[in-house]
Amino acid sequence: MTITHQDSGLYFLPLGGVGEIGMNLSLYGCGGKWLMVDLGVSFGDDTMPMVDVVMADPSWIEERRDQLVGLVITHGHEDHLGAVQYLWKRLRCPIWATPFSASILKNKLHEAGIHNEVELNIVPLGGRFKAGPFDVEMISVTHSIPEPNVLAIRTSAGTIVHTGDWKFDPDPLLGLPTDFEALRRVGKEGVLALIGDSTNVFTKGHSGSESRVRASMIELFGRFDGRIAVSCFATNVARLESIALAAQANDRSVALVGRSLWRIDKAARENGYLADLPPFLTEHDGGYVPKDKMLYICTGSQGEPRAALARIASGDHPHVTLGKGDTVIFSSRIIPGNEKEIYRLQNDLVRLGVELVTEKDEFVHVSGHPGREEMEEMYRLIRPRISVPVHGEARHLQEHARLARACGVAEALEIGDGAMVRLAPGPAEVVDHVPIGRLCVDGPRIVRLDSEILRNRRRMVFNGSAVVTVVLDKFGKLLGDPQLTALGLLDSAHEAEEHDAVVEAVRDAIEELPVKVRKDDGVVRETARLAVRRSLRDSHGKKPITDVHLVRL
Ligand SMILES: [Zn+2]
Ligand SMILES: [Zn+2]
Repeated sequence: MTITHQDSGLYFLPLGGVGEIGMNLSLYGCGGKWLMVDLGVSFGDDTMPMVDVVMADPSWIEERRDQLVGLVITHGHEDHLGAVQYLWKRLRCPIWATPFSASILKNKLHEAGIHNEVELNIVPLGGRFKAGPFDVEMISVTHSIPEPNVLAIRTSAGTIVHTGDWKFDPDPLLGLPTDFEALRRVGKEGVLALIGDSTNVFTKGHSGSESRVRASMIELFGRFDGRIAVSCFATNVARLESIALAAQANDRSVALVGRSLWRIDKAARENGYLADLPPFLTEHDGGYVPKDKMLYICTGSQGEPRAALARIASGDHPHVTLGKGDTVIFSSRIIPGNEKEIYRLQNDLVRLGVELVTEKDEFVHVSGHPGREEMEEMYRLIRPRISVPVHGEARHLQEHARLARACGVAEALEIGDGAMVRLAPGPAEVVDHVPIGRLCVDGPRIVRLDSEILRNRRRMVFNGSAVVTVVLDKFGKLLGDPQLTALGLLDSAHEAEEHDAVVEAVRDAIEELPVKVRKDDGVVRETARLAVRRSLRDSHGKKPITDVHLVRL
């Protein structure tokens, strides 16, 4: 379905982030134009071997690029802006962001070498701007990163409140508090639809305040004599400040370990945050400080194998070592899906003699997403007619829709990626499903997750691969034995018999072909391929990716 400028409707179309947590990409359509909100990534899991970064395929809007008026970034988390550096060239639209998110984005665009091409408009906190038929107000709220924004998007067909990620932290420690005045004002003006964060819909009560974590850390650090290493999400600048201040209060110096921490430190200081803290020590300088006077802040709370903490745990970090008498504090939660990696990391640390502290033991973390009480309060302030839950898996979306109805919202829709919802006029309904897909970063290029390349790589992981070389003379007679390599399947040194059996199967199959047919390359190749596969299936129970090299002399 194509939206034309004669169409008086208002549409919502998510291409990513609805039915999963991550890779957010939302579109709003009005008057023949589209506005994109957020363009983020997810990280690969064990269903996607060898894939680090995944994002929504923007092809649908790319094909309508002339209708795209721009991209608004709600906040600086990877799941909201991490794909811009990979996908902007396909979209080439202006971007709007508040200063801290803009700093993070600029850094990424610089790394991608496109910073001079992108029109990046910096919107002051609480600012308002026009993009085509959309009038966008950015309303300050709180989360687990500086400068998260709720968007009030006003159009001729009604106002949308797009919450982004948020919570109501009464004492966020850093940055502006939630602008309740603005939320109330927008609610009073009348809101057609709220498109909102569902992450913590199963959490009863209130998410809690960052300030309580700070108080708890000050007391906690006082209990330890050895080195302390704290791992947290790099983007949580308030948390970094809390850890640094709690270290100061306990007469400890603080070093940052990990690239993403230094990047965030730079972006934070550029925007006036962390101004009262002395510069952090480098991991190298930290080595000269006595154990009981040192605290490291490390990347890698999710067990990422290349991050600082995993390298320290496996003993291959060049500057930081931990052992008996030292303590590692996980000031973070386990993101579902990362359990295995995190437990592996924690086991490695325990084997070094390190004492572990997690959120199960002490109060060292609060979530950045709203609990049910906060969500109810948001609905009381905004009073939308329609709710479309986003930023959640199917079970979160269902529960959020229930909560919205219980809050008096007339229409709550459970949808998935690719569903085009007409919000106005008339009752909200799904009017179309557009094609969606996933892309991933594979070395220097971006490929579809369902592409043949990645399908084959996945099959190779599970089934191995085999290549056989067949050399024939011009009459189709075999010149010597076929040569076989079966990677991930056969150890040719120790499984000579099995190896020979496959070679024999290929030879027999070709020799059984009538001489005339042997002149047909296609038939010979397919015959050899099937012989290899049949033989390895019988002997090893595998169906490897198989290729045949046919040489005629
Ligand atoms: Zn998010
Ligand atoms: Zn976020």
